[in-house]
Amino acid sequence: MICKARRVSDYKQLAKELPSIRYVDPERVYISLTTDRCQSYTLTVKEGDSVKLGQVIGERDGGFFKQPIYSTVSGTVEKQTKKIHNTGLEIECLTIRNDYKDEYDASITDRPDSVIDAMSPEELVEIIKDKALVGLGGSGFPTYIKFTTGDPIHSVVINAVECEPYLSSDYRMIKDQPDQIFQGLKYLMKASGAHQGVIAVKKTKRELIDVLEREIERYKDIDIRIAKLKDYYPQGWEIETFKNALGIKVPIGELPMKYGILGFNVSTCASVYDAIKHNMPITKRYLTVNGDAVNFPQNIRVRVGASVKDLIKLCDGFVADEARINLVIGGPMMGTAVENDDVVVTQTTTSVLVFKNVDVVEEPCVRCGSCIYSCPAHLQPVLIQDALKRNDKNGMTALEVKNCIECGLCAYVCTSKIHVTENMRKAKEMVG
Ligand code: SF4
Ligand code: SF4
Repeated sequence: MICKARRVSDYKQLAKELPSIRYVDPERVYISLTTDRCQSYTLTVKEGDSVKLGQVIGERDGGFFKQPIYSTVSGTVEKQTKKIHNTGLEIECLTIRNDYKDEYDASITDRPDSVIDAMSPEELVEIIKDKALVGLGGSGFPTYIKFTTGDPIHSVVINAVECEPYLSSDYRMIKDQPDQIFQGLKYLMKASGAHQGVIAVKKTKRELIDVLEREIERYKDIDIRIAKLKDYYPQGWEIETFKNALGIKVPIGELPMKYGILGFNVSTCASVYDAIKHNMPITKRYLTVNGDAVNFPQNIRVRVGASVKDLIKLCDGFVADEARINLVIGGPMMGTAVENDDVVVTQTTTSVLVFKNVDVVEEPCVRCGSCIYSCPAHLQPVLIQDALKRNDKNGMTALEVKNCIECGLCAYVCTSKIHVTENMRKAKEMVG
C-alpha cells in the first residue's frame, strides 16, 4: 500500500510545557576551534592565560570566510582536547576553566537605541560578521554572507516553525524572549533594506501565537506580521516556509535572495539582537533534551561549550543501560547519531535526543513507491537507491539526488524499514 507521510508525531508536549532551566555555569567549557565548515584555525591565547567572557581567543578559517572565536565564560585557558561535534565529527576544542565571575570583555557594551538608529545597513552587517553569528537552526551558515547578495530584498522571514519532532528549544526561547525576536527582526530588516518582516509559526502552536500577537502590538510602526502555517513536515524547510508565508515559490537549487527574500531561524534572529544591542557574541543557547531513554526531558538554557554528558546528568541520566541507547544530536528526522555522549554543545546544537535501542531489521524493497510519493523535493528515492547499489554516478545525477534536503521522510515511510535517507546521503557524497 502506498503511504504518504507529511504528518509526523511531534512528541514535544512534555518538554515544551516545562519552564526552561538554566545551566550556564559548567566547571569547564570546550570551545570548538574547528567545525564542519571550518577546518583550520589560529589561536591568540595559550594555556594558563586568563580570558574574559566575550573575548576573542582566535579565528576559524572556512576557506571563503573567517570568523572570530569567542570565549563563552571568564576563566583560565587549559589544554586543547578533542570532542564530538553535532555532525558526529571529532573536532578540536580549547578547554577553559570557568571562574564563575562572568567578567565581560571590554568590548561587551550596550549600544543606546539612538546609536543603533543612526547606523547604516553596512555597519549593522559588520557587527553580525564580527560577532561570528551563524544559523542557529543547525545550518551553521555564516549569517553575514546572506547580506552580500546584490539582489534587492523585500522580505525577511523568521522561521519559527521548528517542525522536527521532539524539539522545543525555539518554542521555549520565543516564550521567554519575544521582545528579542521583534528587535532582531527590526535590525535584520534595516540591514537588508526589506520593507516587510514575517514571523512564520505553525498555526497549531496557539500559545506561541498569543505571545507573538501580544508583542507585535509594540511594533505597529513597521510592517511585521505573523504567518500561521499548516502543521506538516517539513513545513520548516525554507522553500516550503517561503511558499506558505509569502506565496513565493523559490525553485529548488536557487537562492531565495534572487526572489527578494532573506530567511533566518528564530534563534538566529534573537542572536542578532544580542550582537547589535549588547555587542555580545553567542555565548548561550536554548537546547532540548528529550526522548524515551532520558529520565527527565526538558529544555535548558545552556552555555555554549558545555558538555552533553553533564546535560544528561542534569536530566537525571538514562533510563536504560547505556549500551542500549541511541544518542542523536539534532532532530530525529535530520539529526546525526553519535557513538557516545562525549559531545560538546556548539552554537548550532539544537537538541540531544536519547532513545531506547530497538533492533530494526531491513527487509527487501517491495517497490511500494511510498518514498516517491512522500518526497517533498519530488525525487525518486527508490531509484536513486538502485543507482547507488550499481555505483551509477550518472544515474544518481540524472535523478537529481543533489536536490535531496535529507528531510528523513523517505526512511520514515519506508514499509521495509530501509535506511533510505542514509542511502540518499551516501549517493549525494558519491555524486559530489
Ligand atoms: S530525504 Fe531526500 S529523498 Fe528522502 S524524502 Fe527527503 S528530500 Fe526526498
Ligand atoms: S525504498 Fe521503501 S518506501 Fe521506497 S519503494 Fe522501497 S519499500 Fe517502498
